Amino acid sequence: MEHADLVILGAGAAGLFCAGTALAPGLRVVVIDHAAKPAEKIRISGGGRCNFTNLATSRDRFLSQNPRFAASALSRYRPEAFVALVDRAGIAWHEKTQGQLFCDGRATQITDMLLARMRGAELRLGTAVTAVRAAGGRFEVQTGDGTLSAARVVVATGGKSIPKMGATGFAYDIARTFGLRVTETRAGLVPLTFAEQDLARCRPLAGLSVEARIRHRGGDFRDALLFTHRGLSGPVILQISSFWQPGEMLEIDLAPDIDVAQALKAQRSKAGRMTMATALAQFLPQRLADSIARDEDVADRRLADQTNALLQTIGSRVNRWQIRPVGTEGYRTAEVTLGGIDTRDLDARSMQARQVRGLHFIGECVDVTGWLGGYNFQWAWASAQAAGEAVRRE
Ligand code: FAD
Repeated sequence: MEHADLVILGAGAAGLFCAGTALAPGLRVVVIDHAAKPAEKIRISGGGRCNFTNLATSRDRFLSQNPRFAASALSRYRPEAFVALVDRAGIAWHEKTQGQLFCDGRATQITDMLLARMRGAELRLGTAVTAVRAAGGRFEVQTGDGTLSAARVVVATGGKSIPKMGATGFAYDIARTFGLRVTETRAGLVPLTFAEQDLARCRPLAGLSVEARIRHRGGDFRDALLFTHRGLSGPVILQISSFWQPGEMLEIDLAPDIDVAQALKAQRSKAGRMTMATALAQFLPQRLADSIARDEDVADRRLADQTNALLQTIGSRVNRWQIRPVGTEGYRTAEVTLGGIDTRDLDARSMQARQVRGLHFIGECVDVTGWLGGYNFQWAWASAQAAGEAVRRE
């Protein structure tokens, strides 16, 4: 049987980063992935430009049953450290909004950087891992290509989002095999879907984007909202989707800078001849203005003829649009998986299973999920660094 000091399962963001950190002279590190190429999610991330970190990273930007758990790894590996790596690799980047850092060029530059950083480790692609067993103080890693004996195993096989790209719930299976608890998982950062009666109104708006604000107990988010053929998407919706619970009503402000009822009343005396559709289009994209005015049957009516009550109703539809999604698009399109390996069973400094020496879990498979905006990659780097350092220390 082949022997290795460290076997890392999964050549995604966390697995590749961990290999680079753990590497030391004389240490044999093997990274295994069933996909044909490493880090496919980095390639498609951030619209192809990879939002690789967020300068505002702090533990309150993460969802977990134990929000304190991530603080240790996140404080020891800061976004600035990753930016220094990116700079050293000569990768140009820019800050988009709110601390979000993106590559100027292709996202694959990040993967290339990670691969260069782990030079000396072996990367085995197209190799599925089928089981991990404890055997005489070591681990046996069964793959489609034979069995490896390893002193340490780091599980970095991610969550269930985008199965088409090779995502599996394999990390949870391994965790359960070794007696670790797994919290309930569900799709996060995912578009929301509507019931047919709401879709009838929204479908004609598909493709339209508008700046919106959603206040929720999970946070106060303001960003682009996109109407789709199935419901709503766009950054503000993806953010809220991680907090939204089935059955819950959302209140959406489609014109966050304007009190539309007040603005319409003020205009009524000055420009009363305007049609309602035209008046509303001062604050909203024309298609959305037309749709709301048509719904109230006033699209071609003059602003001057409208009552305060009607303007109030229209204002509410814009500033306090109430909608009850029926669900999400699920793992098929979700950017992340919420929940995962229960942090009570992991050591926060090393990401090692408390009861299983030498077995670590990092990245998305752990019950730590970031907001949209580069936080999930920062968690991948930080948790990988924690595990990699622990391996090198021993
Ligand atoms: P992954 O990157 O998912 O890697 C897991 C690896 O394990 C995969 O390569 C998979 O093939 C492999 N694997 C799974 N099962 C097995 C098995 N049984 N045997 C062998 N190998 C296996 N986050 C950000 O911070 N910024 C962004 O811009 C961003 N954009 C995103 C865009 C999209 C469309 C998506 C889907 C996600 C995005 N994310 C983004 C989230 C981010 O990609 C993930 O949080 C991150 O990739 C998780 O890293 P990971 O290494 O834990 O898992």
